[in-house]
Amino acid sequence: ALAAARAAAGAEARLADGTRIEVFANLGSVSDAERAVAAGAEGSGLLRTEFLFLDRDTPPSVGEQTAEYQAIADALQGRPLIIRLLDIGGDKPAPYLPIAAEENPALGLRGIRVGLAHPQVLEDQLRAILGVRPIGVARIMLPMIASVGELRAVRAVLDRLRGELGIGETVELGIMVETPAAAATADLLAAEADFLSIGTNDLTQYTLAMDRGNPAVASGIDGLHPAVLRLIADTCRGATAKGRWVGVCGGLASDPLAVPILVGLGVTELSATVSVVPEVKALLATLTIERARAHATAALACATAADVRRLAREFTA
Ligand code: PEP
Ligand code: MG
Repeated sequence: ALAAARAAAGAEARLADGTRIEVFANLGSVSDAERAVAAGAEGSGLLRTEFLFLDRDTPPSVGEQTAEYQAIADALQGRPLIIRLLDIGGDKPAPYLPIAAEENPALGLRGIRVGLAHPQVLEDQLRAILGVRPIGVARIMLPMIASVGELRAVRAVLDRLRGELGIGETVELGIMVETPAAAATADLLAAEADFLSIGTNDLTQYTLAMDRGNPAVASGIDGLHPAVLRLIADTCRGATAKGRWVGVCGGLASDPLAVPILVGLGVTELSATVSVVPEVKALLATLTIERARAHATAALACATAADVRRLAREFTA
């Protein structure tokens, strides 16, 4: 039934040679989901769930969360919905999740670390996602993974809850690649995760050691920096060796200059900002995998982000 609903859900993005690339949209609300469907998105590769948790005194209940996730899944009409677990930290505090003042919030308690430090919050969110029907349409994605142990800890909770709830079906559990550690160990993570999705905003921040919110270093922050591209290449190599797909849900997936390079590096799912979904699909239709691979190889040999951008402009011209 899931497959039939998906097939009916509309145009599948393909390269000119028929290579399949999924084009998904990043969402933060039910209305985003409606806009995404209208724009031709094939699903959501990133639902940022922070909107449910911020600006309130108590965490949302399991029922409240399930209702929101279900409404978004319903708006997607059978298309897959990848729900990212809560990704807040010291820089985005919630009163019911006390986090001591930190000198370096970006390097502190954030992403999956918060869920592991507050097991009830993690368990409630997993329970809420397991409540979405049909089972399997909602997949789970973990932010800020740095170690296989974090993935194992969440999988153990997920398996226990599936047992308690009598859910025999598989519910996919994937991870975000946002730390150089995750990129360097992509093969190890892919052995235990159902998919990998690269968060290029944070991966760029952590690779270049440049705060993504600091205007003094903003001009140096570019996801097309050769160091970031090499980590994306490593991620694709590691995941492909274990038979797992790699997506990109960070800003590079919405950058027309980056898309051919990502595809050439082995990325097969792009989750973009809703407004650029049609442009990304149209751009993919002009590419062949052979040309994209040659272009990516050339990009990997560039010395600077500016060189990569120059090459990318020539490629699309
Ligand atoms: C990212 O880091 O690229 C990402 C998609 O997550 P966020 O922008 O929400 O940190
Ligand atoms: Mg991030």
